[in-house]
Amino acid sequence: MSAQKRGAETKGKGSNKHKRVDSADCCVDEDKESLNVIEDDSGKALVVSSSDDEEDLVSSSIDVGSDESSESSNVSSVDLDFLSEDGDLLIDYHDIEESESGEADLHKRFLCCTKNSDHKGLIPLDEFSNNHIPNGDNLLYKCIQTIADLTVRVDVKIISSQRPEFWPGSTKSYPFYKSNQSNLRAGSGWVSGVRQFTDDGKKCWCTKCQGSEFSSGAWWEVEVTTTKHLVFDTLEAGNTSLRFFYDKEDSPVVIIDKVIMENLGKDKCLLKFATCDSNLGDQLERSQEKFASFWFKVYQKYLPARDEDKFSFIVSHPHGGCKRVSVGHWKEKKNEDELTRFTYTTCTCPGSSGALVLFPGYGNRFVPEFFHSGSLKSGFNVSVAELMYTQFF
Ligand SMILES: [Zn+2]
Ligand SMILES: [Zn+2]
Repeated sequence: MSAQKRGAETKGKGSNKHKRVDSADCCVDEDKESLNVIEDDSGKALVVSSSDDEEDLVSSSIDVGSDESSESSNVSSVDLDFLSEDGDLLIDYHDIEESESGEADLHKRFLCCTKNSDHKGLIPLDEFSNNHIPNGDNLLYKCIQTIADLTVRVDVKIISSQRPEFWPGSTKSYPFYKSNQSNLRAGSGWVSGVRQFTDDGKKCWCTKCQGSEFSSGAWWEVEVTTTKHLVFDTLEAGNTSLRFFYDKEDSPVVIIDKVIMENLGKDKCLLKFATCDSNLGDQLERSQEKFASFWFKVYQKYLPARDEDKFSFIVSHPHGGCKRVSVGHWKEKKNEDELTRFTYTTCTCPGSSGALVLFPGYGNRFVPEFFHSGSLKSGFNVSVAELMYTQFF
């Protein structure tokens, strides 16, 4: 068999002590949204203005107080939002966009957004540059660009009657339980695996080939990871479509509308599809290879100082619109049984559920592994709970 695939390897548990709380809140502190904020060793925040020209960077120092005082004033509020009196997880907001009248309604929802009304923390992909990256790190910038290339919009047109009333092990309401309110839900996903088949006896099962006597012998099987609260089961997957390369408003429309699903764990799911469209298959395979190359280097580079840097990046489809990039920091890691959730300031809106969240130095050398879920009452965003990988190269 001629096949290539990217995938994860053995998982293990790990825990790391948080050290500080940063000041770069693109959602919480809107005055700093257009700036890169980096803390130096003395606890000063180095503020770097955005510029198209690296030579023109202007910097200044702002005293943000000691690590200890920042931590003590913020951690307790995060903890209170995570846990109610009975220990229940309080996710009060998922980041799925809903539209009663389909696609046409999504743009209106962007304009009427109540979560981030000016959307300054969500950088349009075609305006994103390495000036938005801490220290202008070109390697990290290229890595995020390839993550963007692999980010997809996920549209779901049906609500399964099998959705539970509550989050598992919780008394918190599960999204869209017994709901028939929307006819379109929009979120995000990420191409986590691409496998090419060539003349190995297994035939393409794309929509076109399934209805044909002559299915193609050269084809790709593609995996997209997203959240289960966005695509709950096989019924919803059967009514899900994926839009690729939606980088700007006038991007060509590339849609896959036949996917199947596999569960991946507590709140993640894997969507799979086949394609013998060589343009789509080749492009996704190349992007996956580029991502793997960049991520391996980023992982190694950021692993040693990951708990000091606390960087966090997301590429998503806010309000079902074209891709936007957000830059921020993670705040806390919280253990739930053997799983870990991150909280972060990195900006999201409805439509961002299911997007990959990059925490440089976390994940493993092959994949970052964390995906966006929703928000806490404190205003911090929160990832899906995930096993922590053992650190190794
Ligand atoms: Zn918004
Ligand atoms: Zn086919």
